[in-house]
Amino acid sequence: MTVQQVKKILIIAGDGIGTEVTTEAVKILKKVCKLSNIEIELDYADLGGIAYDRWGTPFPTQTLEKAKASDAILLGAVGGLKWESLDYSVRPERGLLGIRKELDLFANLRPAKTFSVLASASSLKEHLVAGLDIMIIRELTSGIYFGQPRGVEVLPNGEQRGFNTDEYTTSQINRIAKVAFEVAMSRDKKLCSIDKANVLEVTELWRNLVIKEGENYKGVNLSHMYVDNAAMQLVRSPKQFDVIVTSNLFGDILSDIAAMLTGSLGMLPSASLGALRSDGKRYALYEPVHGSAPDIAGKGIANPIATILSVAMMFKYSFGNNKASKQIEDAVEKVLNKGFRTADIFTIENDANKKLSTKEMGEVILSEI
Ligand code: NAD
Repeated sequence: MTVQQVKKILIIAGDGIGTEVTTEAVKILKKVCKLSNIEIELDYADLGGIAYDRWGTPFPTQTLEKAKASDAILLGAVGGLKWESLDYSVRPERGLLGIRKELDLFANLRPAKTFSVLASASSLKEHLVAGLDIMIIRELTSGIYFGQPRGVEVLPNGEQRGFNTDEYTTSQINRIAKVAFEVAMSRDKKLCSIDKANVLEVTELWRNLVIKEGENYKGVNLSHMYVDNAAMQLVRSPKQFDVIVTSNLFGDILSDIAAMLTGSLGMLPSASLGALRSDGKRYALYEPVHGSAPDIAGKGIANPIATILSVAMMFKYSFGNNKASKQIEDAVEKVLNKGFRTADIFTIENDANKKLSTKEMGEVILSEI
């Protein structure tokens, strides 16, 4: 008899619409776990502005302890006007950067998928984005955002000089390349590595090591593209890509371009994964791409789909349960096909009777599962 291990899931609602969207996502999480016979134990913790208000720090020690004890974390969002005048060291965003760093969540997976019925909401022509389904994998804990030396200095001639260091070591590149190949294997077996190997030595090393890792994944069709061309190709013909892997800086920019192809921030999930540990597990944090949306917080109109799709990613990448993941994605698609919309994805062509609140959208998705 196989003994099912209880999965420990930490819920961090955070600030603004974080509470509203995670509440709906947790209902879906519970239902799918029940249907899939997955036993879960939920715990809750504070991060960001709410943590600062309660504990005097955006990243309390007990949140880190709970995060380390979890199999997966579901996060809403952090930040808001209330905390914008605080010192940088205690701003809500420090909590987010802190948890990513402490858990070494180096692999950021951001799918950009356009649901056919929403293709007209994209800023690109409908035929370019209808059916789009790409995955951008961004290295998240190294590269130019962390490299040393960095700073602004005054030169002897009185001029100021600002500088940052883009650096990657063999192991940092190898581990993100491995994740990218594994993800490519689980999809269309097509991987494009983005660099600037013609002018930056650090990315020349990146390209060489990705090619080397590719020798272990002969079934994957590996290609390479310079980042400037990749930015252009993403808006010219995005469907040519399946999985993209790139560095922290390039990934930051390219994943935002890809996000906009799909039309709405309220639809985009993400996963940030850590290294595989000796116990065969890895830390993993799932969150919508959007922020805390202070302009609509508390109004009950936020789109919960990005957070619900983040739960779908949790089933796939933390619990290896593709069936449960697909169950959620299919339910979202069905609800959209039936014409249900939250305000952010509602257009004049939609039926006003099917304009839903956050809670109602959560409930119609729940009823489709
Ligand atoms: P934002 O993503 O919060 O909002 C941008 C716009 O998109 C707003 O008009 C908002 O109403 C809308 N929007 C976002 N999510 C939505 C949803 N689910 N449904 C409907 N509409 C949605 O970005 P911002 O305004 O630049 O930042 C607000 C705060 O969030 C800031 O404090 C920022 O630092 C923080 N932030 C946090 C994260 C995170 O926690 N991962 C990410 C980005 C920004």
